[in-house]
Amino acid sequence: MQRKSEQSNNQKNDTKTNKVEHAKGYIENFFKDLNDSTKQRMIRIGEFDSQIQKEKLSKKEQKKLRNAFLQLENKYNRMRIKKLTVKDFQLIKVIGKGAFGLVCLVREKDTNEIFAMKMLNKKTMIEQGQAVHVKTERDFLATANVPWVVALYYSFQDENNLYLIMEYVPGGDMMTLLINKNILSEELTRFFVAETVLAVEAMHKLAYIHRDLKPDNLLIDASGHIKLTDFGLSKELKNIDNTMDTLKTKKDEYSILETDKFRSQIELRNASVKARRQLVFSTVGTPDYIAPEVFSKTGYNDSCDWWSLGVIMFEMLCGYPPFSAKSRRETFLKIQNWKKYLVFPSDVLVSREAKDLIYKLCCEPENRLTPEQIKKHPFFKGVDWENIRQQTSPYIPQLSSAIDTSHFDSFEDQIDLLLNDSQKANDDKLDIVQFKGYTYKRLEKKKPEQFIQDWIKNFKDLEDK
Ligand code: AMP
Repeated sequence: MQRKSEQSNNQKNDTKTNKVEHAKGYIENFFKDLNDSTKQRMIRIGEFDSQIQKEKLSKKEQKKLRNAFLQLENKYNRMRIKKLTVKDFQLIKVIGKGAFGLVCLVREKDTNEIFAMKMLNKKTMIEQGQAVHVKTERDFLATANVPWVVALYYSFQDENNLYLIMEYVPGGDMMTLLINKNILSEELTRFFVAETVLAVEAMHKLAYIHRDLKPDNLLIDASGHIKLTDFGLSKELKNIDNTMDTLKTKKDEYSILETDKFRSQIELRNASVKARRQLVFSTVGTPDYIAPEVFSKTGYNDSCDWWSLGVIMFEMLCGYPPFSAKSRRETFLKIQNWKKYLVFPSDVLVSREAKDLIYKLCCEPENRLTPEQIKKHPFFKGVDWENIRQQTSPYIPQLSSAIDTSHFDSFEDQIDLLLNDSQKANDDKLDIVQFKGYTYKRLEKKKPEQFIQDWIKNFKDLEDK
């Protein structure tokens, strides 16, 4: 009995000691962090002062730049504790429309830094059963620290919307480039497809399957290199399942495709461009690029993204996706019946190597090339896979400033409508559970040298404002 109470006293003392040790550790760590951050701040300012001497700047410009740098350093400190809201950002322009909300170009008021802000309406997402997927997108963007994926800086929410504050990728998306250029040369196709191979491979290495890879999700950065976006995945899956169920009950469904048989390739091309523009304003995206196995419930793996890449490559070279049709339903049917509909147009010259690669991407999942085999394919002869991102791109978007939006469609006439939509009230109050843990901050400090270069590049814009 005595031994038992002794034991319990010892245990209590142990717990007490642990608590004291824990508190001591916590206080030590707190002061260590504080010391470290003060030390690091001094090192960064020293680094900045030596870097600035290397630039040809007047004394006045040097002073301005130093003030801006010190302001940013202070901001980092404040950021550690600050709660961000949409009011911290000034809207410059609406540049895109996704399935659940808008993408806008914004300026952070505190620092003048430019970002792309994606607003996702909670009510729309709950209605469409997509609440879980936005967390996946936010998680992926927050952890994927690779140059092939658009960087996420912050995410936060208010009563009605979720917000993703991302790096602004100013060269526009591949869909806009394809609409403007109609077709791309084999040289440009090779470059963009090669970069997309590396981007998709990097994503797969992070154990992520895109499933909805399409030209709208391939962004072009200021130096003409590819970045992937839109990891909201499977926006389509609910609709796809429904469509497949209806198809099963109608045996003669394939006959509706007969009406499409007589359309010329030019007609198909024009119809596809028109359909793409209209689809931007609907909440359901295009199924054109989705692999057949993704919407048959038999299961799929990451090779479904290589099918999508094959479809994108076909569109780059031919001007329309191979399964383009008048309705989503017809497109589904064509994809199911791909062996019949994967046909190259007779009026466009496509090399043997390019066709062969497309056939080896758009085929049965078990026959699709692996990333290693793709890289060795003759279509990519001469591609320097190790250094492609450091090389000069064959397409460099013309940009007049850091806030140039000329590579994006204009949404000015729809702005009120779009903004109203994003204000749709979330009266269900379901968000507490559904969107818990959405907030994220990337406190990644810019290197002093990078800060100086960016400031010099953007100096003119800011002075003009
Ligand atoms: P999403 O909802 O992610 O599909 O985005 C819709 C459109 O907004 C894209 O097709 C792009 O045109 C544009 N967009 C999305 N993210 C960015 C970004 N980080 N920078 C520039 N434009 C973007």
